[in-house]
Amino acid sequence: MKGELTGGCLCGQVRYRLTNEFRMLPYACHCTDCQSRTGSAFSEHMLVGTGDVHLEGETDCGWYVQPSRAKSQIVGCAQCKTRIYAINDERPGMASLRCGTLDRSAEVEPHAHIWVRSKQPWIVLPPDALVMAEQPRTNEEWMALVWPK
Ligand SMILES: [Zn+2]
Ligand SMILES: [Zn+2]
Repeated sequence: MKGELTGGCLCGQVRYRLTNEFRMLPYACHCTDCQSRTGSAFSEHMLVGTGDVHLEGETDCGWYVQPSRAKSQIVGCAQCKTRIYAINDERPGMASLRCGTLDRSAEVEPHAHIWVRSKQPWIVLPPDALVMAEQPRTNEEWMALVWPK
């Protein structure tokens, strides 16, 4: 997923353009928090620079204090409540984009799967998938996992 990308919410009220300055590889998170938050089996994220998300339309914001005590804010469409990205006060300058909102989301293939310890049992990952039982704990570990090489 290189170059400029576009996406938006379900109802079309929010549209965004993602320029390409700082972008990590997409990953899937199978933690139980993501399952509750998305109402689904896992979430697909891609860390990007907050300044690269150029968004139009009315958004609103939800927040959640994670077990790590980081406050996560989720920005989404004010009308249909599609979540577009999350920011986290321990990760300044970075936004975690919800990859399913991309126009070309079918081209997003997770580079890694984290929290496979709580993966739903019916999901079968490719045999060569890069997996972690939990998640990286430091910036260095995150970089090693999802920094494009
Ligand atoms: Zn919407
Ligand atoms: Zn998660």
